[in-house]
Formats: sequence, structure tokens, C-alpha cells
Amino acid sequence: MVTSHRPWAEPYRIKMVELLRVTTREDRESALREAGWNTFLLRSDMVAIDLLTDSGTNAMSDRQWSAMMLGDEAYAGSASYYRLEAAIKRRYGYAHVVPTHQGRGAEHLLSHMLVKQGDVVPGNMYFTTTRAHQELAGGRFEDVVIDEAHDPSSEHPFKGNVDLAKLERLIERVGARRIPYVCVAATVNMAGGQPISLENLRAVRALTKRHGISVYLDATRAMENAFFIVEREPGQGHRTLADVLHEMCSLSDGCTMSAKKDLLVNIGGFLALNDATLADEARNLGVLFEGLHTYGGLAGRDLEAMAVGIEEALDPAHMRARIGQVRYVADALAASGVPIVKPTGGHAVFLDARAFLPHLSQDAFPAQALAAELYLEGSVRSMERGIVSAGRDPDSGEHRRPRLELVRLTFPRRVYTQAHCDVVVDTVQRVLARAPQIRGLRMVHEPRHLRFFQARFAPL
Ligand SMILES: *Cc1c(COP(=O)(O)O)cnc(C)c1O
Repeated sequence: MVTSHRPWAEPYRIKMVELLRVTTREDRESALREAGWNTFLLRSDMVAIDLLTDSGTNAMSDRQWSAMMLGDEAYAGSASYYRLEAAIKRRYGYAHVVPTHQGRGAEHLLSHMLVKQGDVVPGNMYFTTTRAHQELAGGRFEDVVIDEAHDPSSEHPFKGNVDLAKLERLIERVGARRIPYVCVAATVNMAGGQPISLENLRAVRALTKRHGISVYLDATRAMENAFFIVEREPGQGHRTLADVLHEMCSLSDGCTMSAKKDLLVNIGGFLALNDATLADEARNLGVLFEGLHTYGGLAGRDLEAMAVGIEEALDPAHMRARIGQVRYVADALAASGVPIVKPTGGHAVFLDARAFLPHLSQDAFPAQALAAELYLEGSVRSMERGIVSAGRDPDSGEHRRPRLELVRLTFPRRVYTQAHCDVVVDTVQRVLARAPQIRGLRMVHEPRHLRFFQARFAPL
């Protein structure tokens, strides 16, 4: 008798395929040289398993594709906008919705409205575009995540939690008037897709309320966060993802959203708010930066795909398979001695490049070098999350030196099969076997903004 202990299988079947190019090691060596050892600069047709990001790389369902045919492309008052607005109000619960072309569009509007010169925006770890927009508006980001988030070996179940004492001290130090809002990410991308607990979110809300400070959620992966709350937070196991998501949002004044993650689409985002005056201002600014407030830089069909995606993403079978796939790879890697960040987060497996390449100093860009080697070895594309991503301090001009030097293997939703996952595991194991021979890199071109996207390197 065959028994299966496999708790889940992909809750979909494939009815259209995208063919992949098979490359040789020589092909990949020349592609990497052309790309300046930066995986962001590789041409995607030279990549077999693309784990660069889960952003906009999701496979849409037949229902989403059908909904796209119903897109109302009216410049103003599109019916598609009203369908999306209703879906967001229902599931996220905010009163006002301003669509934006993607997450950073929403961050731009929010920062522009709320952050003034000299302000401080506390957050549970920085995110690249979020912090960039806070700084562009004249503010400064302050990290108030718990210390465990910076420790790749910590098994804390909610490494995305805000350290309430750090937040309280910061408020005392700079004064509540200098803090336009606290930016709470759920899950925390830069800590490895780590969730924040409902208990912590409630406590953040209570603390900030006492000081009259608003809370804005980065809801980009809030549904994945809700999955972890249901799975591991005491007293939450009986709840639905939708119910938990709704409560999470109710503990904030609004959210910025990159729909390219949770919502199973290829483009889109929104800013959602409860305050009517601010919402009016956001709609007005949106006209300058995004497009009229009923399309926000998107086509009507994109709004339709998001509206359907909201419901599909809240299906527990979807989320179990989505997070299950990430865990499958993480568990296989950990079992064979590959140093990874624990516990495994929602969207990615993070390799600990410092432990993987202990002979390289941070100035030799170990995570950048490891990402390049994974591509050479198995045509697997990953990305650096370390000193290159952290950029330079705007005041001192020095490299920011994050403790974490990571390589991110990020899983697009509903795209790859378990066999692809096995190839990924095998690739990482092969690179680990020859790790002592891997040389570091030097940066030969450094762009001013978000340098990790376009920087170029050469082997040391
Ligand atoms: C992707 C992302 C953003 C930015 O969204 P874009 O759609 O890429 O502009 C903001 N916050 C988090 C946590 C993200 O993962």
C-alpha cells in the first residue's frame, strides 16, 4: 500500500506553459560577464529558474485572465475601479482606495503627504523603496524591529515584531511631533519574510495612540503574515486568513500595497486610507504622479486582475501550497547543512552568505558573489540582500553595513513545480561543495539611487 504523508499539493493544474531555454555553463559565463556579475542585469531568457523576486512574477489564473477581458478602459470612473475598490474595502477594510501603478507609487504619495523635513519614520526594518521615499521627502528612517530580526540563527516565531521599548525610547528622544507615522511591514521582507504577531501589532497601536502617532501598514505580504498568525500565534488557530487580515488592517490608519506580491498579478498597487481629507489629497497628488484616481497608472484590466487576486490569495489551499513550497526548499537545504535564515519566512529562502563564504570580508560582497555562482552553476537566478542593497548612509556617504549578508531565493506564486525546487536545492549544494574556491567581487560601477539594481562588479 502506498501512503502519502505529503500534506499538500499544488491546488491548480497547468493549462499553458512557457518554454525555458537550456544553457551551457559557457553561455552563462558570458551572460554573467555582460551583466557585470549583477543578477539584476541578466537577460531573463538566459535564466532557467528565476528566483530573483516574487514581485509581479506570479502566474495568473484562468479566472484572472477572463476578468481582464472585462476590464473597463474608461479614462474616468472605470467600472473596474469600483470592483477593485469594493474588494479592497471588503477584505482590507479601509474606507478609501487610491490605485497606484505599484507599491512605490503608494509609498511616494504617502511620504509626500506626511513626511516633513527633519521627521523620523520608525519601522520594523527598512525596505529599499519605502525608505528611499521617506528620505526623498526629507525624513529619516529609524529601525525599531526586535534584535532577533537581525540574527539569522534566531528561531523567534515573530521576528517581524516591533521592539516596543525601542519605539518608546525613540518617541521620547525625538518627540511625537517629529514622527508622522510608524511604518509597520507585515511580513518583513528584509528580515526574510518574517511575520509580526497580532499581539505586537495591537501593542504598537496602543502605544502610538497614547502619543497621537498614526500607524501605516506595508500590506504587501500581509496575507502571508496572516497565514503565520493563524499557524503559530496562540489563540488564533481557529481564524480564517480573511478575518486575521481584516483585524491587522483595523490596527492601522491605512496601508501601502504592492499588489505584485500577495495579489497574484503582474502589476499594480494601491494606497488605502481611513482619513477622508488625506484620501482627497492622495487622489489629487495621484493625478500628478500616477494618473487619475480611478486608474492610478494602470489599465482597467489590471484593476480587474487585482480584484480577483484578492479572493484567490485568501484561499487557505493557495497559501498552504505557496508557503509550503518555500518551506520544502528551506527544509531540504537545512537538512544538508546549508546555512539559511530561520525560521523560514513566507516568500523566500535566504542563504546566509557570511556563513557560506566565511573567507570573504563584507567588502568583497559575499552575497553578490554567491548569487553569481548560483547562476553559473544551475541557471538559478537569486539576488543579493546585503551591503550592496543597503546602500550608503546619506549623511556620511559610507557603506551601510548590515549584519545580514544574504542571498534571497524568492518564489513566484504558482510558477514552479516541485522538480524545479529539487534542481534549486541541488544547485545550492553543489556551490556549497566548492565554496572555499569562490572569490569575492569589487564594484566597478555604482549608481546613486538603489544601487543594487544597476551596480556592476568584477571578480577580485
Ligand atoms: C515590493 C515591495 C515594496 C515596493 O513595491 P513595488 O511594487 O516594487 O513598487 C514595498 N514594500 C515591500 C515590503 C515590498 O516587498
